[in-house]
Amino acid sequence: MDPSQLSGLDLSKVPSHAIRPKGVPCVGNKADGCWWSCDQCKAPTDVSRCPGPKQWGLTFDDGPSGNTTALLDFLDQRNIKATLFIVGSRVTDNPDILRRAYKAKHQIAIHTWSHTALTSQSNEQIIAEMSWTQKIIKSAIGVTPLYMRPPYGDIDDRVRGVLAAMGLKVILWDRDTNDWRLNFGNPTNYNPAWISGNETKWIDATVRGEDNPITLEHDLTVEGIREAMTVIPRITDAGISVLPVGECLKDSRWYAEDDGSELRTSSAGAISSAISSTCRSERGWYATVGLMAVYTIVMFVL
Ligand SMILES: [Zn+2]
Repeated sequence: MDPSQLSGLDLSKVPSHAIRPKGVPCVGNKADGCWWSCDQCKAPTDVSRCPGPKQWGLTFDDGPSGNTTALLDFLDQRNIKATLFIVGSRVTDNPDILRRAYKAKHQIAIHTWSHTALTSQSNEQIIAEMSWTQKIIKSAIGVTPLYMRPPYGDIDDRVRGVLAAMGLKVILWDRDTNDWRLNFGNPTNYNPAWISGNETKWIDATVRGEDNPITLEHDLTVEGIREAMTVIPRITDAGISVLPVGECLKDSRWYAEDDGSELRTSSAGAISSAISSTCRSERGWYATVGLMAVYTIVMFVL
C-alpha cells in the first residue's frame, strides 16, 4: 500500500478481533465483534433506515457498469436521485459513467476496490481498499466520498473501527430486494415474483408509517435494473419520497471536500464544480492507479 494512506490515522481504538478467512462459518447464533455475516448484528453506528416519515433510501451497489447507463436514463426521466456504492476497480473502465452519475446529483459512495469481504482483510488491506477507491473516484469527479457499504454486508467491530478512523460512515440496508438472484436465470429455488411481493409489503409499511427502508439493489445486471424500473414508480406513486441516503439523513457532508454549510437535496444539490479538466479522459492514469492498487492488494494477500 501507499504508506501515505496510513499517515494521520489513529488505529489505537480499533478492536483486535481476529481476521476471519473467507469461508469460515459462523458458529452458534452469535459471533464476537458484532459480525453482520454471522447473525446480521448491526452496531449503533450502522445506518440501515431513513429517519422518515415516508422516506425510502434508494441504493445501488456494484457499478459503474455498462448497464448503469440505462438506470441513469430512467432516474433522469423521473428526477429521482440515489446513492451509488462504487467498486473502485470498475471505475477504470467506466469513468465517464461515474462522472455522469455525479453530475446528475446522485450520491457517490464507496463499495471497496475489489469487492472483497472486509472481515477477511487486515487493517492495512481495508485501508488500501478504501483509499484506492476514494482516490480513483476523486480523480474522476473531483470529490472524495465519505459513505461506504461493505460488500455482502460483511462487517464486524474491527472493520468498523478502521472505517471510523478513516472518517467513513457505514450504510447497510434493512430491505434486500435479492435482485442479484435474477441473474441466475430463474433457478428453481428462487421466484422473481417474490421481489415484487416484498416491495408491495415494504411500500404498504412505509405508507402506514411503520418503516422507512433503505433498500439494497444492484446496477450490475440488466435483470436487476429492469426490476428497479418496475418497482420505483410504484414507490413514488404511493407518495413516498425516494432519496439518496445522505439526503434522508440530512447530512451536509457526503464528501470530504464539503464544508458542511450547505445541505444537499435531490432538487437542488450543491454539486461541486470540482471536476477538473485535467482529470478528464486520462485513461492512462486510471490504468496506472488500477495496476498499483491491484499490486498493493495482492501484495498484502500473499
Ligand atoms: Zn456488492
